[in-house]
Amino acid sequence: MGQLSIAAQDGIKAAALGKPGRLTIDLSAMRRNYSKVSAIVRPAHATAVVKANAYGLGAIPVSRALYEEGCRHFFVAQYEEADDLRPALPGDAQIFILNGLQPGNERACAQNGIIPVLNSLDQLKLWADAARRSRHVLKAVLQFDTGMSRLGFPQNEQVLLAETLQDYWNVEILFVMSHLASADESESEQNGLQLEELNRITRKFPNLPICFANSGGVFLGEDYHASLVRPGIAVYGGAPTAGTPNPMEPVVTLEVAVVQTRSVPAGTRVGYGGVHMTTSTRRLATLGAGYADGLPRSLSDRGAVYYGDLRLPIVGRVSMDSMTIDVTEVPEGALRLGSLVEVVGPHQTLEDVAEAANTISYEILTRLGDRYHREYR
Ligand SMILES: *Cc1c(COP(=O)(O)O)cnc(C)c1O
Repeated sequence: MGQLSIAAQDGIKAAALGKPGRLTIDLSAMRRNYSKVSAIVRPAHATAVVKANAYGLGAIPVSRALYEEGCRHFFVAQYEEADDLRPALPGDAQIFILNGLQPGNERACAQNGIIPVLNSLDQLKLWADAARRSRHVLKAVLQFDTGMSRLGFPQNEQVLLAETLQDYWNVEILFVMSHLASADESESEQNGLQLEELNRITRKFPNLPICFANSGGVFLGEDYHASLVRPGIAVYGGAPTAGTPNPMEPVVTLEVAVVQTRSVPAGTRVGYGGVHMTTSTRRLATLGAGYADGLPRSLSDRGAVYYGDLRLPIVGRVSMDSMTIDVTEVPEGALRLGSLVEVVGPHQTLEDVAEAANTISYEILTRLGDRYHREYR
C-alpha cells in the first residue's frame, strides 16, 4: 500500500497544479526504441517522424532526445511545425515537410532551410520558382504514390516529372520516398505490390537514396528498409504490427486525478443522458479529465482505468472535462480527492485504450492535448 500513498501524494501535486492529471514521457525508453529500430535496419538509417507535436508527446523535447541518439532527419506534416522546430535543433538536422508546400510559404521555407517533400508537379513548380528567385539551389525530396492514392506523384505525372526535373537544375533532390498503406498488416498483399511499384519507379532514379518504411515497414523485413526508414509510432512505444506482441518499450504513462467520490443506491443514473443505471449500491469516483483531454467519448460505458491491479470500469458517458468510474472494488477511503488512477501504463497499453475506444493508438496519443501536467524522464 506504500506505493498507493505515493501515487496519492503525486496526485495531490498534479491536482494542486490545476491539471487534470499527469502525463509522463519516458525519453530514455523512447531513445532505446529509436536505437532498436536503427539496429534492425542497419546499414539503412532511421529518421524520425515528429509530426503533430511528435504524436502529442512534444516535438521539441522528443526531437532533441532523438538527435542525441544520432537522428538527423525529422519529418513534420506542416510548414508551421517545421518553423517551430527549426531553432530547437542543430544546423545539421534536416527538417522535412511531408505535406510539402502550400502556395505562399515557399519563400519562408527556403529562407529557413526547411526541406519540402514534393508531392506533385504543382509543388515542384512552386519550389523551382522559389529557387530561381532566391538564386540558390534548393533541396527537396520527391514522393511517389505507389498505391495509397494520398500523397505523392501519381503514375500519370511521372513521365512529365522526369522531363521537368531536367529543366529544374536549381532543385536538388536528396532522396525519393513513398509510403506504405498496410505496413501494420504483415500479411497484406498490398505491401509487396507497393514495393514492386517503388522498385519500378526508382530504377529511373538510380543514384538517389530511397526512404520507404514507416514503423510497420521496419518489421516487414530487409527488402523494405532501402536507404532510410521513417518510424513514428514505434519510437513512441506503440505497436508497429497488429496482432503480434509489441517489441517496443512503453514511453507514455497517463494518470488522471479524482475530483469527487460518492456512494449511490441501486437504480441511480450516471452521467449525461442517464444511459448508465446502477443495479446495486455502488461507490463512484469522478475523474477530472474527459474528451477535451483526449479520452474519447467512445469509451463511455465500455473503457476502464486502473488503480493498482484493480480494473475500474468507466460508467456513463465521458463528459468534456470529467468522467465517472466505478470504484466499488477499491477499499473504502483509498481513492479520494486528488488520488491518481492509471489510464495508460503498466496495466493498460495504448492499444488497449484504443481498442476499447474503437480507434488506433495514434489517435489516442495525438489527442491527449496540453492540459496535463507533463513530466519528461
Ligand atoms: C505518419 C507517417 C509516417 C510514420 O508512420 P508510423 O506508422 O507512425 O511509423 C511515415 N511516413 C509518412 C509519410 C507518414 O505520414
